[in-house]
Amino acid sequence: MQVVTTIAEVRAVTEGARASGGSVGFVPTMGYLHEGHVSLMAAARRADDLVLASVFVNPLQFGAGEDLAAYPRDLDRDLALAEAAGVDVVFAPPVEEMYPRPLLTSVAVAEITDRFEGASRPTHFAGVATVVAKLFAIVGPCRAYFGEKDWQQVCVVRRMAADLSLPVDVVACPTDREPDGLARSSRNVYLSVEERAAAPVLHRALRQGAARVEAGERDPAAVEAAMAATVAAEPLVALDYVAAVEAETLASPERLAGAIRLLVAARVGRPRLLDNLGLTVAPKTTPPPGAG
Ligand code: AMP
Repeated sequence: MQVVTTIAEVRAVTEGARASGGSVGFVPTMGYLHEGHVSLMAAARRADDLVLASVFVNPLQFGAGEDLAAYPRDLDRDLALAEAAGVDVVFAPPVEEMYPRPLLTSVAVAEITDRFEGASRPTHFAGVATVVAKLFAIVGPCRAYFGEKDWQQVCVVRRMAADLSLPVDVVACPTDREPDGLARSSRNVYLSVEERAAAPVLHRALRQGAARVEAGERDPAAVEAAMAATVAAEPLVALDYVAAVEAETLASPERLAGAIRLLVAARVGRPRLLDNLGLTVAPKTTPPPGAG
């Protein structure tokens, strides 16, 4: 596995791969890799000829007072995990390589960033969209793998790539979970033993919401209330939001129909944890008069 730190080196390897007819699979990360990241790398390995992963803790997407300085980092361990996952090249740039001077340019995706993570972290998605646009420009035509774990981020990146006609196919991969349902996250290392035991309530709340929908509930407020009640029963978990929304637009429908997404975010001790679940709500078939 090759480890590179400059934009020029990334361009050389990706252009080389494409010139010889190969496809490029790209997995952007902030490092401190876990099995969730590894599942994205494995998906790229299955589909693409050259697999490139980036490890870059992007200062732009952290707000003032957030955990940028304390964000967990361990590049040696990341490189070992990436190599074991079959990654060909890791791009681990220093901040000065990505941002040699203050940016005067930023990418903002409207509407779908207004709510949820965008409301809790007002500068976050501009930071994400800007660094991802920059990485896409560096890597060039590729398939880029993102985790459904950060569902709103998937929606933002997809829309940004489509709106700007970027030559990147955005692939969303399923959330990788601990055996008790907790979505894997680099931030889980912040949890105390008690908080770790409480944290799977997020996934239980999503399953509770999904069970309501499967039982026929179509009122988003009722589904949200059921999810919130599940979280409220866990005293170590402070709910930020729950929502039952349209999957692609993140808009709140009057009645649940088609592709929907259940979202939850909560503070569990120090970290804020996110989770979500996708569901397809089949339109209700009205039985013909006189049937059954
Ligand atoms: P991060 O390093 O947290 O920025 O995450 C890098 C990529 O890995 C993002 O596309 C995340 O959505 C994805 N990811 C993080 N956790 C998981 C998980 N548990 N399962 C699948 N993908 C994940």
